[in-house]
Amino acid sequence: MAHKSVFDASAVKSEFEVAGINPNFIPIIWKHVLQNPNCMWDEIPSLPVAVYSLLRSKFKPSTSTLHSALDSIDQTTTKLLIKLKNGEFVEAVIMRYDTRLGKYNGKPRPGGLRSTLCISSQVGCKMGCNFCATGSMGFKSNLSSGEILEQLVHATRIASIRNVVFMGMGEPLNNYSAVVEAIRVMTAPPFQLSPKKITISTVGVIHAISKLHRDIPNLNLAVSLHAPVQEIRCQIMPAARAFPLERLMNALRDYQACSQQKIFIEYIMLDGVNDEEQHAHQLGKLLETFEVVVNLIPFNPIGSLSRYKTSDDQKVAIFQIILRGTYNIRTTVRKQMGQDISGACGQLVVNLPGKGLVVNLPGKGSSRSADHITDIEDLRI
Ligand code: SAH
Ligand code: SF4
Repeated sequence: MAHKSVFDASAVKSEFEVAGINPNFIPIIWKHVLQNPNCMWDEIPSLPVAVYSLLRSKFKPSTSTLHSALDSIDQTTTKLLIKLKNGEFVEAVIMRYDTRLGKYNGKPRPGGLRSTLCISSQVGCKMGCNFCATGSMGFKSNLSSGEILEQLVHATRIASIRNVVFMGMGEPLNNYSAVVEAIRVMTAPPFQLSPKKITISTVGVIHAISKLHRDIPNLNLAVSLHAPVQEIRCQIMPAARAFPLERLMNALRDYQACSQQKIFIEYIMLDGVNDEEQHAHQLGKLLETFEVVVNLIPFNPIGSLSRYKTSDDQKVAIFQIILRGTYNIRTTVRKQMGQDISGACGQLVVNLPGKGLVVNLPGKGSSRSADHITDIEDLRI
């Protein structure tokens, strides 16, 4: 039997239970692995003898490997390319907010290191949004909870991570149990991230949104709305047929009523498709009774894979003015970050059939998740 990741929490817990071993040893093992990459199980001190043989026969400290880590010139962004045990690649992106200048009179942001990690939940994605590079790959596989956590483990060795956003490859709510399990581990020792520092971005998987608050209270929810009416949503996001806008908004209203939290709304600006003034008014009316923050995301071209053009700055500005001025909705516009390494989760790597691994090179792509996360982070300060 193939060895599992030691970060696959349910597998480890059930093996410990079967063997009658105290589960309190598990976080101690995780902590050791976190601090000692490539460790051998025997090197962990003071565990019961039965633990060593169990670990040796069933688990590996890591099932994925860090294939490469690429820094942006300004050092704000590091793109990690991670090879999974099935040979597929996923990406994770580290964004360092404290090194950004300009916001505080040109001085670095106070408060020390504040890194955010953008992680992947699937290889590819079945939702098929036609502006998204990951969508064009189709669905390949789900990551296990251990593989999701291993992205955090790899990143923690490079930076101190305070925030995690599921805005990389894949639709996190289509891999619900692994994502929930991974978040539960992230919020417990030794990782101990606050759930308030974890954001799930979803295309709007209605039944999963309805469960989410019960399963992980205090989590941040970001919804990729991208259109104010069902017709445009269907045109750019085929999944909208299965998750109609009206039902989605009802689910969000319930979510907000239970969680009492604001919801982040992501809105990609596609020239001539969803960026006209009438769309801003439709969106404003749709959202004015919610507690939301809208983040306008200029479309990042994905080469020949998509037919869309980026909205010009003026259109984005008018859209923002309408949402803010007429509907009093907090609205941010994505800023650029780590563009030189195309630090955009989900867009960095496309495994095209017959073409092998295609990595976006500097200048070819641009940063998206890095940017709108910046905005989401900014709002919490
Ligand atoms: N599947 C989830 C999370 C991953 S995608 C979701 O769709 O929300 C993270 C964000 O990047 C989403 O808001 C997505 O719509 C956006 N995105 C995808 N392709 C993009 C592109 N080419 N330009 C800008 N944003 C893009
Ligand atoms: Fe999947 Fe999100 Fe890309 Fe849509 S935008 S195809 S849901 S990863």
